[in-house]
Amino acid sequence: MILNGNSPSGPLAQMWDRRRQELKLVNPANKRKYKIIVVGLGLAGASAAATLGELGYQVEAFCFQDSPRRGHSIAAQGGINAAKNYPSDGDSIFRLFHDTIKGGDFRARESNVYRLATLSNLIIDQCVAQGVPFARDYAGYLDNRSFGGAQVSRTFYARGQTGQQLLLGAYGALSRQIHAGTVRLFPRSEMLDLVVVNGQARGIIVRDLVTGMVNSFAADAVCLCTGGYTNVFNLSTNAMGSNVTATFRAYMKGAYFANPCYTQIHPTCIPVTGEHQSKLTLMSESLRNDGRVWVPKTGGDKRAPRDIPEGERDYFLERKYPSFGNLAPRDIASRAAKEVCDEGRGVGPGGRGVYLDFADSIARLGKEKIAERYGNLFEMYQKITAENAYDRPMRIYPAPHYAMGGLWVDYNLQSSIPGLFVLGEANFSDHGANRLGASALMQGLADGYFIISHTIADHLARTEPGKVRPEHEEFKRAEEGVNSRTKKLLSIKGGKTASDFHRQLGSIMWEHVGMARTRESLGIALGRIPELRAEFWENVAIPGSGAQLNQELEKAGRVADFLEFAELMALDALQREESCGGHFRVEHQMPDGEARRDDENFCYVAAWQFRGRDGSPELHKEPLIFENIPLATRSYK
Ligand SMILES: Cc1cc2nc3c(=O)[nH]c(=O)nc-3n(C[C@H](O)[C@H](O)[C@H](O)COP(=O)(O)OP(=O)(O)OC[C@H]3O[C@@H](n4cnc5c(N)ncnc54)[C@H](O)[C@@H]3O)c2cc1C
Repeated sequence: MILNGNSPSGPLAQMWDRRRQELKLVNPANKRKYKIIVVGLGLAGASAAATLGELGYQVEAFCFQDSPRRGHSIAAQGGINAAKNYPSDGDSIFRLFHDTIKGGDFRARESNVYRLATLSNLIIDQCVAQGVPFARDYAGYLDNRSFGGAQVSRTFYARGQTGQQLLLGAYGALSRQIHAGTVRLFPRSEMLDLVVVNGQARGIIVRDLVTGMVNSFAADAVCLCTGGYTNVFNLSTNAMGSNVTATFRAYMKGAYFANPCYTQIHPTCIPVTGEHQSKLTLMSESLRNDGRVWVPKTGGDKRAPRDIPEGERDYFLERKYPSFGNLAPRDIASRAAKEVCDEGRGVGPGGRGVYLDFADSIARLGKEKIAERYGNLFEMYQKITAENAYDRPMRIYPAPHYAMGGLWVDYNLQSSIPGLFVLGEANFSDHGANRLGASALMQGLADGYFIISHTIADHLARTEPGKVRPEHEEFKRAEEGVNSRTKKLLSIKGGKTASDFHRQLGSIMWEHVGMARTRESLGIALGRIPELRAEFWENVAIPGSGAQLNQELEKAGRVADFLEFAELMALDALQREESCGGHFRVEHQMPDGEARRDDENFCYVAAWQFRGRDGSPELHKEPLIFENIPLATRSYK
């Protein structure tokens, strides 16, 4: 089937206005009759729930943490993009749009990305009004720094804690609605299924993680804001609880999953040190504003970094990409780091690392200035590695970080199931095959503060409020499904923990579906994943019961979903016979090792439809049309 992204017609710059004009409204007195479920309260969900509550809808908001303040968004370090052009360095809405389309390697929808660039400026105003303490310059204006894939400074930041400060702003707005009674908060609650009645999303099944009770919640629309799936690699920069369960269950209920093979491997993470690790730590991309990336020119050079003279160092990003240098986009910088390590020039244990060196910046700006900009990141680095990055370069290596793929949504953020909307990292919408730094927060907040309130109204205005209740047989059936799966998991009493299986899955994914994929490696993954999944259902060990707090049970449920999702990801990578952004197929590269796109055959969004456990998923394609930025080979040279 050819999918339609439902973008408005007409000139790009007028599309969002035009769409808002076309969308139906719900009058203020009727809003309170509608119930909306918001699952996930990171930045996308908290901003959506607060906005919908402020408008007067009845909102029920769920997250599995004990507080929305612990949503994974809190981890975001470097900043949030906006086209304010405060430094007057040539930025504009069009340039942000252009950089994002190009950064995504021409695999995103133009209409969505232009809207994102337009809304970026409103986000900053909104957050400033909430009191988010963005960094300011000497004159008191909001300060900006640079991120990858841009030649302007457009990233607003709050030291290395931007996500935390933005989340506190959103949480404040949410708390106001909880106090006003428009939002009911359900923390420590995990959505385990979506309920679809007569083809329309009508509610969710939720397990109370403290009591183990499984309950049904009915509504007139459901918003999934449940984040990304990068933990399919086991080791990633994501919070340990980040998972694919909600989106995968929605996929099994009919929502299409788009571009699952597009995952971002971030170039600046603290290298893996061993099997004992349960997660990896990001060193924000913002560090590449002042840090220079290098390795020794000669393989096997074991000298301390300060003993290696300038002439014997290879500043490989500056050499290969002189226009963007250390701020080349993530996919490119990651592959370049892998390349030099594969050549035997990597540093640190196992040779899987490159230097990120601040010596020049410290000499130029002084240690205090660097500490002011990145102090908390240097502290974090020292706590983990016992090395002082003011004195010797950091060691960094690429690690799984972000999911560009996600549930397919149209321009209105509506999935292929009417009434199911998907926001933030959980959808596939705006980043194509590679996300630029500082654009995830921008997208999540654009979705939550500025888009969903308009588009959901159009759906609600066509829906009779409260028509389906939790007593409906579809809810009963879905509850039974959740209970019997839990029972099955608890009954296995095998010999390996869920974490053991997750580790094994992660190593299959990293080795065969990671930074470089081949037809052969994907075939291996597609063979091994079902074997591992079969073993899981025979041999997973879960202590305790389902009638209490049981984190092993939670983990096992999430790993079970990763074991299914991983196969879809490998399948998607196999069918995409091209290299683009974060999806690098070794067979498809230029003579100089850069990605070779195939626009003639693959300029589409791949959206997969679940066809039952025994069938293969069906591929639908949404053609991507570029009318405002001509398709071109990406170059950052
Ligand atoms: C270390 C790090 C640094 C980053 N730095 C930046 C940065 O500087 N700039 C930038 O733009 N981006 C950054 N990113 C990316 C960005 O932080 C995320 O993409 C973004 O915060 C995701 O927001 P979200 O609201 O979509 O999802 P999340 O913040 O992941 O929130 C997901 C929510 O869903 C809930 N949830 C999930 N599943 C269920 C379920 N089944 N039932 C109930 N609740 C569920 C969780 O409880 C949580 O509340 C960074 C990412 C990492 C890992």
